[in-house]
Amino acid sequence: MGAQTGLPAMRTSPKFIFFTDFDGTITLQDSNDFMTDNIGYGQAKRRQGNIDTLEGRSTFRDSFKDMMDSISKPYPECIKLLVDNIKLDPHFKEFFQWSLENNIPVVVLSSGMEPIIKALLSALVGPDSEKMQVVANNVAARPGKRIDEEGGWEITFHDESGFGHDKSLTLRPYAELPEEIRPTMFYAGDGVSDLSAAKETDLLFAKKGHDLVSYCVRENIPFTLFESWQSILAKTKDIVAGKTSVKDAAREGYEQYKAGEAGLKPEA
Ligand SMILES: [Mg+2]
Repeated sequence: MGAQTGLPAMRTSPKFIFFTDFDGTITLQDSNDFMTDNIGYGQAKRRQGNIDTLEGRSTFRDSFKDMMDSISKPYPECIKLLVDNIKLDPHFKEFFQWSLENNIPVVVLSSGMEPIIKALLSALVGPDSEKMQVVANNVAARPGKRIDEEGGWEITFHDESGFGHDKSLTLRPYAELPEEIRPTMFYAGDGVSDLSAAKETDLLFAKKGHDLVSYCVRENIPFTLFESWQSILAKTKDIVAGKTSVKDAAREGYEQYKAGEAGLKPEA
């Protein structure tokens, strides 16, 4: 009988929960960037939007809505384009299999749209992917249109926040559980969509060479680096086995950054 918390990932009373971003973290490329760059307004404008968000000139919500509004292809064509082009981190499947065997729920927290994420997971991970909870933004038909026609869809956001999907809203109820049942919480991410999650978990895995690393350094958020789910799996196994503590792992990131090992130039 699981702890009666009403929280979906607590059903099996896990000792660990792995929350993760989807795009650029589970997948090798960001599917929304791929759509924006290839069938929307293009890479230069998209990158400027990311920078504006990172530097606080724009909210993620506004810049992301702009990107999605620049895409007019019918939604089923967008899904097909992504299923044909987006690849999964080659080690994610192994991690996910291990997590299933060890009662470590994997919860996807994404700023992408749920139907796209589920289609990609099902194509790339197979039927077991249904065991992953997905919390994300969604899609709706524009007034008087259908999502399967040209210019027919728009993104709908998870909540009212400037993030569009404030990932801390999902994380915090777990973080606030009573100590006796509160699981150790992991989070993995790579970019601007993870800023709302970065401060909420016990160990943050930030992808080497990506925007989230610079943000963590600037905001003094402890993190550990990862290159692929192979490094995430190795470190998570060590922590689950008690060979490394979450605290020690969380100190490593900044030290690696200072040593020039984070795939980014340390600021003077
Ligand atoms: Mg991402």
